[in-house]
Order: sequence, then C-alpha cells, then structure tokens
Amino acid sequence: MELARIQQLEELAKQYGNPLYIYDGDIIKSQYKKLSEAFNNVKEVTFNYACKANTNLNILKLMKKLGTGLDAVSLQEIQIGLKAGFTPQEIIFTPSGVSFDEVRKAVDLGVNIHIDNFPFLKYFAEEFRNYPIGIRINPHIKAGGNEKISTGHVNSKFGISIEQIDDLLELKNQIPLNVQGLHIHTGSDIVDIDIFLKGAEVIFDVAEKFPNLKYLDFGSGFKVPYKEGDKQTDIELLGEKLGEIFNQFIEKYGKTLRLIFEPGKFLVSQSGYFLAEVNVVKETPYNTFAFVNSGFNHLIRPMFYNAYHHIINLTNPNAQKKNYNVVGYICETDTFASEREISEIREGDLLCFLNAGAYSFSMSSNYNSRLKPAEILIMNGETHLIRRREVLEDILMTTEEINL
Ligand SMILES: *Cc1c(COP(=O)(O)O)cnc(C)c1O
Repeated sequence: MELARIQQLEELAKQYGNPLYIYDGDIIKSQYKKLSEAFNNVKEVTFNYACKANTNLNILKLMKKLGTGLDAVSLQEIQIGLKAGFTPQEIIFTPSGVSFDEVRKAVDLGVNIHIDNFPFLKYFAEEFRNYPIGIRINPHIKAGGNEKISTGHVNSKFGISIEQIDDLLELKNQIPLNVQGLHIHTGSDIVDIDIFLKGAEVIFDVAEKFPNLKYLDFGSGFKVPYKEGDKQTDIELLGEKLGEIFNQFIEKYGKTLRLIFEPGKFLVSQSGYFLAEVNVVKETPYNTFAFVNSGFNHLIRPMFYNAYHHIINLTNPNAQKKNYNVVGYICETDTFASEREISEIREGDLLCFLNAGAYSFSMSSNYNSRLKPAEILIMNGETHLIRRREVLEDILMTTEEINL
C-alpha cells in the first residue's frame, strides 16, 4: 500500500474513530469504466449494481451518477434505490423465496421483476396480466468460489430448472405471461470465462423459444483479486468473447436484445478498507493472537465462507513480518486470519483489512450488542461521513420495554 494511502487512512481513523469502513469512490468509478469498456462491442448493455454488496445510500447515488441500473433482492433495497434516484425502470427486483405480497409491493412501485418459480408465475398472471417479467433460469452449472456462493447448480434453490423449460412453455401458453427477459446467475468468484460462455449458451437456447424478449441478464460472479498474484476474471477477454457470441445470437434471434450484468463485488469490493485497532497481543506456547476491537459482527466473510481479506499493519508497515492469528472480541471463535504473515503487531496498532467494500458492512450485525462502525466515502479528494457510528440508543430504539 502506498504511503500516502496509509497516512490518509490513519488520519481518517483519528478523525472518525475506529473500527471504521472507508470506501474510495474513484476505485468504484474505475471498476465501472473497466466493465463498460470491456463490453463496448455490444450495442445495448446495462450494468445493474447488485446493491446487496453495499447498500449505503450514497454508494447507490454514486452508482446512479456513473450510469448503472440496480439489482435489488428485497423491498427495502428497492426503496433505498428509489431514494437514491433510480427510476423504477432502472431497477430489477430478483427475489428468492419472498412472500407474494412483497412481489405485489414491487409491482406497485413499478420496478422490473424476476420470477423463479411456477406458483408465483400463476399468481402473477392472475393479478397482473401483461405486467412485464423476467424469468430466472437455473442453468445447472456448478460455479463459484465456494458452496455458499454457488447458485446455479442442480441442487440450488435458485431459478427454474433448465429441465423444466417445456413445462414453462406450456404454462406460458395457458396463462397471460409477458416474458421480456431471461436471467441466470450462477454464483460469485468465478474466474473461468468458459463458465460464463457456457451459461450464455444455455440462456441462448432458452431464448430461442421466447420470441418477445427485450433483454438477457447474465447475472454476475466476476472475481476480484484478494491478494497479490491472485486470479481474477479477465473482464476484457470476457467482454470480447461474450460480446461476440451475444452479437451472433441477436442476429440469429432477429432483433436487438439488451445485455445485462449485475455486478456487486466487482464494482465495490476493492474500494473498501476496514480499519480496526489491536487491543492486545497474546502469546501462547503455540500461537500469537492479535485481538482487534471488532469481530464477525462487523466483518463476517472470513468466518462465514473462509473469505480472504489481506491485512496491513498501518501503524508499523515496514517491520519484520511475523505469524499471527488475527481474531476478534466476539465470544465465539472469531478468526479473521490464521497463521498470517503481518509486519510486527503491537498493542494499539491500526490494522487495515482490504477488499472490505462488498458484503462487509452490509452483512454486519449487532451481535454481542456491539455497535456498527461509521462509513466514510472518499470522493474527488474529499472525505464524507456517509453513515455515523451507532450509539446504544440505536439498538434500544426498536426495543419495546414492558412492565415486569
Ligand atoms: C448477489 C447477486 C449478484 C452479485 O454477485 P457478485 O458476485 O457480488 O457480483 C448478482 N445477481 C444476483 C441475482 C445476486 O443475487
């Protein structure tokens, strides 16, 4: 990490306290630029930011300014998106297993909707005949960095099975369904470009049977690097190859379709820094533990799916490296990193976790009744507090006190 960045992060921790989430808007901007340039061979292409990665209102406003659409998976994400300035037409709601009432509310708000099960298709046709929908297909492709972020395999809960397309077509003949889009999303952290191309072939095959489509949505899953030398999705190559077969397909299809992607991680992961301070360093006969003033209540990815977050000792960046288990203060095993080489850690040092822009704050909780950190956005050389640090009253606010 550059010295200027280290100093900037330390300065922000002084100003706003820690633990602290910091996002660099310029990195988000350049990630978006990379994506849109990679697919400039396709006539109509849209990137819908999958906002579950980071739902801070100001991050959504930045995305809107850059020109993305929005992928929402809950009513609340739709509402935050509308507040951020997205029009209903720019939002696609891709829920999984929500109540039909939530779907109804999404229709009320006028957003695009993806449906992924037969019962809801029937209810939808009964209540909202001709309201446009997209259908999420399960392509039966095993992909993704690990089990928990793999969403397109045979046993996945997501989508309508590719083996049920005939049933889908039959249903479509019986009830008024206005199918304007097809959608797949096979998982996250996919490096192999052939997986995306295979997914495309599956969606093309299905698309041939739906003559009135307006778009094909390829979901996301682009992998970003987590450490030096780490593999990532080659976006330029993907743009070239997928763009080419997409263009061939729309020629065959007979009219232009919009190509949609829904990147979450790719847009925001690398923009994020999570800062936490070392409370104590404990030597045992077997390990050295560095305890920080945080835990999986603030950053659950390492504990949840063994995600790797590179850790830099901002206070002592050039010291001799030693082996540490970086752990949290939660009263459960709470490991951020095991046997990790980090420059010598002392009490009071400020550690920085990289790739903390996606699925980090948005997955945080109040477990152990701990308060959530503040969030900062760096934009055009200025820093902005975009979420204040929680106080105890925030937790107590939703508690109903009764007389006992
Ligand atoms: C989570 C999700 C995404 C984003 O995935 P990333 O790997 O973060 O890019 C896109 N589409 C849908 C439907 C999702 O659920």
